[in-house]
Amino acid sequence: MRLTNYLLPTLKESPADAEIASHKLMLRAGMIRKVAAGIYTYLPLGLRSVRKVEQIVREEMDRAGALELLMPMVVPAELWQESERWEQYGKELLRLRDRKDTEFCLSPTHEEVITDVVRGTVRSYRQLPLNLYQIQGKFRDEIRPRFGLMRGREFIMKDAYSFDLDDAGADSSYEKMYQAYQNIFKRCGLEFRAVEADTGNIGGSSSHEFMVLADSGEDAIVSCDCCDYAANVEKAQIRLARQEEPQPQGEIAQVATPGKKTIAEVAQFLGLPESRLIKTLLVRTDAGEQLAVLLRGDRDLNEIKLCRFLDCVEVEMVDEANVVKMTGAPSGFAGPVGLDCRIIADHEVRTMVDCVVGANIKDSHCSGVNPGRDFEVEQYVDLRQAQTGDGCPRCAGTLQSWRGIEVGHVFKLGTKYSQALGATVLDRNGKDVALVMGCYGIGIGRTVAAAIEQNHDDNGIIFPMAIAPFQVLITLLNPKDQQVVKAGEELYNQLLQAGIEVLLDDRDERPGSKFKDADLIGIPIRVTVGNKALKDDQFEIQLRAVGERQMMPTDETAPWLIAEVNRQLVR
Ligand code: ATP
Ligand code: MG
Repeated sequence: MRLTNYLLPTLKESPADAEIASHKLMLRAGMIRKVAAGIYTYLPLGLRSVRKVEQIVREEMDRAGALELLMPMVVPAELWQESERWEQYGKELLRLRDRKDTEFCLSPTHEEVITDVVRGTVRSYRQLPLNLYQIQGKFRDEIRPRFGLMRGREFIMKDAYSFDLDDAGADSSYEKMYQAYQNIFKRCGLEFRAVEADTGNIGGSSSHEFMVLADSGEDAIVSCDCCDYAANVEKAQIRLARQEEPQPQGEIAQVATPGKKTIAEVAQFLGLPESRLIKTLLVRTDAGEQLAVLLRGDRDLNEIKLCRFLDCVEVEMVDEANVVKMTGAPSGFAGPVGLDCRIIADHEVRTMVDCVVGANIKDSHCSGVNPGRDFEVEQYVDLRQAQTGDGCPRCAGTLQSWRGIEVGHVFKLGTKYSQALGATVLDRNGKDVALVMGCYGIGIGRTVAAAIEQNHDDNGIIFPMAIAPFQVLITLLNPKDQQVVKAGEELYNQLLQAGIEVLLDDRDERPGSKFKDADLIGIPIRVTVGNKALKDDQFEIQLRAVGERQMMPTDETAPWLIAEVNRQLVR
């Protein structure tokens, strides 16, 4: 491809609404353009990377035995009513009506449609196992679309769905997908980890997320420094520290803490570490129960763990009026002593001695408070967010926390959808059984964005070879010099013939601006053709990731480039 025939609208400045590197760079490099919030056009350069990721995904899915199909994006409400998700899914589901006033939605995911396909086509256990996938546009009316392709409203997803006769079969389908995902993200050149994930409310038993490690990631994960335990903090367990019998020393006493409401304020005011305070959170479940949840002062509540324990979908903090009713004081001074409601606490609270808690009196706290002696806890449970330094739940190792971008998700669904929609087969004994399902997603655009997030510098993108829009960039320094044009064109044609994806910068522009664009768009290997070096029969070569330039005899360049491209492709 010649740049004089290409559309490469690079930008010097990044648009104001772009917050993270990948979003800025994809706009600046002319890969995408915004159409509306969370809705983008993929320009030619961006589309090439997207297609590369799709191709890797396709190859690995096919290799794992999955079959590609294509389902519609516009889906009748009826199907979603059968699974009851029409009511449950909330505002991310964009609903619309056709001219006959029939209701439809733009599909955010395809469990209903695929289950409908399978119930109409598969009748016998002999047709199993079956894994069907598509690469297709999804629509989710995200509350906060941001970061470009990272969290769009319309985005491209690969979604696969497996169907098995029993749990053992479903486990083996899951394993195959897990392995395919390892291959895919490795081939994309990403540094990633598969982590245990919460199964949320899609209904299902087991789930892993594939996380690209990056500081800008929206997810927090922990991994063990000794074994291979890794989990999303939403789900991460913590090894219980050895529980020594607490030995209370002090007597309970009320202390004045005028205007000091937060843990930090109280700790500083009393000159104590935050770990000596007990945090009392008053929460209300969706069933309307109000209770107190206790944590060590320096710890954060994990709401997902709390909801699981309370068997509810969400909890909210009790409002000010009810705090006053429950404690007799404004918020900021709640404590467990004398509190008339159910009290549950994180495991760690059990071993705390002589601590500080709110006194349930305005501008006051109590010191010398001891759990068990001064108040009763109904149950001690794991309620806190895992963090760096916590003990691994599987071994004696220590957890470390990271930020991650979720690029893929594998999920055991069980029979939720097959039962709801009546997708059954006849087993060996001629009995009707519900299919056991799994679902497996990969965000295609998010994978490209995550790769850029992980591979860039101040000057631009540094594409991993496998997903670079082009593999080699040839820059003609003096495009009016016949010798330069001749040597450059010759190399260009040699590479094209060898199947290398090459972009020729034949634009009549200043070398400085060509080099700036080259840095920005991040093609992994660059060749500069200039009249000075040509006098010695040489080209200049530069690897975008390394930066150093080296001279190479013109006749050795094409074979070297072909070998280098192949070396950099992770297979
Ligand atoms: P998130 O927690 O980031 O919202 P999710 O759990 O809703 O993700 P899934 O329903 O598992 O995501 O979708 C499968 C994959 O699709 C995700 O792993 C992610 O790579 C991608 N994806 C999900 N939502 C978006 C989005 N709004 N924009 C781009 N990609 C997305
Ligand atoms: Mg989501």
